[in-house]
Amino acid sequence: MCKDKICIMEVIEETMADGPGLRTSIYCAGCSHRCPGCHNPQSWNMKNGHWVTVDDLLDVIKADEFCNVSFSGGDPFYQAEAFTELARRIKEETSKTIWCWTGFTYEEILANAQMKQMLQYLDVLVDGPFIQEQRDTQLHFRGSANQRIIHLVPEEDDYIPGTVPLVPLR
Ligand code: SF4
Repeated sequence: MCKDKICIMEVIEETMADGPGLRTSIYCAGCSHRCPGCHNPQSWNMKNGHWVTVDDLLDVIKADEFCNVSFSGGDPFYQAEAFTELARRIKEETSKTIWCWTGFTYEEILANAQMKQMLQYLDVLVDGPFIQEQRDTQLHFRGSANQRIIHLVPEEDDYIPGTVPLVPLR
C-alpha cells in the first residue's frame, strides 16, 4: 500500500445514492469483513479493482463544482493511508463534504492509529458491518440497523433519521 494510489472498483459521478444531494462516489476495492449478504462481494478482492492516483481522483472530484464526495467500497479503511491523503487534499483544496462507509466500527477506528487519522477529514462516518439479521430496507444510507450515521462535524446538519451526533475530534 502507498499513499499516492488507491485501488478502486469505479467512480460514479453525480449520484444521489450515497449521502444527501449530488455526490462523486469513489468505490474502492478490497474488504476483509466478508459480511454475509454483502451488496458488493466482487469488491472484496483487490484484484478486481484497478489503481488510480490520488491526483487523478482529485481531478475528477474537483471537475464537478456541485458534487460533494463519498468514499465506499469495499472498505476505504483498508487503504487508510491513501484515503487519508485524498480526504486531506479534498478538505484543503475544496469546500466539499465527505461521507465515508466502513465495515469497522467507530470505536475500532479510534483504537487504530493509522485509521484514526482519516477521521479528522471526514464529515460523516457510516460505520459497522452489514448484519443480515438486522437488515432494514427502510433505513437511510445503510443496510442494517447496527450501522450508524455518525456526524463528525457539527456543521454537517442534514437531518437523517438514525443519525448519531458526536463531539468532533478536531
Ligand atoms: S463491509 Fe461492506 S463491502 Fe465489506 S463485506 Fe461488509 S457489506 Fe461488503
